[in-house]
Amino acid sequence: MSCYSHARSGVFPAVCSLDCPDQCGLLVHKEDGKIVKIEGDPSHPVTQGAICNKVRHMAERIYDPNRLIYPLKRIGRKGESRFERITWDEAVRTITSQWKRLIAEEGAESILPYSFYGNMGRIGTEGMDRRFFYRLGASRLLYSICEAAGTEGYAYTMGGSFGTDPEDTVHAKLFIMWGINAVSTNMHQVMLAEKARKNGATIVAIDVHRNRTGRWADWFIPIRPGTDAALALGIMHILFEEGMTDEAFLREYTVGHEQLREHVRQYEPHTVSAVTGVPVGDIYRLARLYGRTSPSFIRIGNGPQHHDNGGMCVRTISCLPALTGQWLHKGGGAIKGNGAYLEHNAPALRRPDLLPKATRFVNMNLLGSALLELDPPIRSLYVYNSNPAVVAPHANKVREGLAREDLFTVVHDLFLTETAAYADIVLPATSSFENTDLYRSYWHHYYQIQQPVIEPYAESKSNVDVFKLLRAGWDSKSRRCKIRRRT
Ligand code: SF4
Repeated sequence: MSCYSHARSGVFPAVCSLDCPDQCGLLVHKEDGKIVKIEGDPSHPVTQGAICNKVRHMAERIYDPNRLIYPLKRIGRKGESRFERITWDEAVRTITSQWKRLIAEEGAESILPYSFYGNMGRIGTEGMDRRFFYRLGASRLLYSICEAAGTEGYAYTMGGSFGTDPEDTVHAKLFIMWGINAVSTNMHQVMLAEKARKNGATIVAIDVHRNRTGRWADWFIPIRPGTDAALALGIMHILFEEGMTDEAFLREYTVGHEQLREHVRQYEPHTVSAVTGVPVGDIYRLARLYGRTSPSFIRIGNGPQHHDNGGMCVRTISCLPALTGQWLHKGGGAIKGNGAYLEHNAPALRRPDLLPKATRFVNMNLLGSALLELDPPIRSLYVYNSNPAVVAPHANKVREGLAREDLFTVVHDLFLTETAAYADIVLPATSSFENTDLYRSYWHHYYQIQQPVIEPYAESKSNVDVFKLLRAGWDSKSRRCKIRRRT
């Protein structure tokens, strides 16, 4: 496999590595070995050269003067951000010796890796890291913060993250943007909807406030937070009552529709209106628009699941396309996530066979409590692709936990983040343009490969290289003797 990092100048294909459904194809322009411009790749079948401004200006981040350029060790109090330069050798020696001691004294589960999708590359995000910590027997992180409930709910209805091919949605005649500010967070779905709108499609947005998508839609329906499932049940009530369901589809492709028909009898529009705040007339209008328009498409966002019963809410909304048989119409259906279409051989990458059987899980949403209260305690935290001092729930608790003097924390990042301020060792990370990785969209149906466009910045290293270094720096023979597992 060739890579482009040795070329001094030219235009090279790349992938946006951010946690965004669109996963745009990019073209990176280089002059004298430096990135000078980033633009969209017009040959990408879905994103077609359009990208957002933050990535258009990504080169400023790559060459930001505050970027970490060598490993650091803490010399001040935790949180003070006082560090001094060390070598990679010293960093690896310090980390491995601390972990060997912890494993011998308290067991490998005293170590917790913490990561998320600061970079969406499959290898760097869910590859060598998993192998390394599985082999170590460290505590496992239970993901995720943003989408776990909705993904589970959608899978209850659909069997997995399988939805409409977004490219087909240009044929839709009705779009319902449900709990998603797509204008800001899924811009290519909006471009596809715009094409459909030119052919007569109507765009409806349902949300708790009139964001950019609400202002762009033909009809904005405000709804009380956490009541989306009631609205979906009210729509079903009218669809059944007014004979707008596709009975042949229900018989052929669904289970439980008779029980559902009975269940939604109680969700008559006045009841639903009282719960949701949506006027009775609007509930009828929406249900009839949905029941009489085909193909109709629902883009389900992450918003509705961020409440009690969020998983059930997404499960309920995702039943709607089946009621009107939309899955048989090109462009009809729904998308919550499409990641399951592009499944790769994850076990071969992650090697779960290396995992000791009863290793404990730590819920990433409860990091603060875990750091402060878990028994046996977490004694070491290894953070990569994330900044939990800012993004994890209960930030004050998280910071209190990070401030523990008996917690050995390592942070691998491009910048001295709020979390890194509490670290004992900070490691400089490469950007995605410096790495080789595979990228899988959770919206469109394309895999993309990123080959390095530039050399690693200063002394920075990729996740994969750091885990290889840690493994190489480990005395595997003595580790086997010393590992003590809790029973
Ligand atoms: S729209 Fe999303 S995928 Fe495209 S460049 Fe922006 S952040 Fe990246």
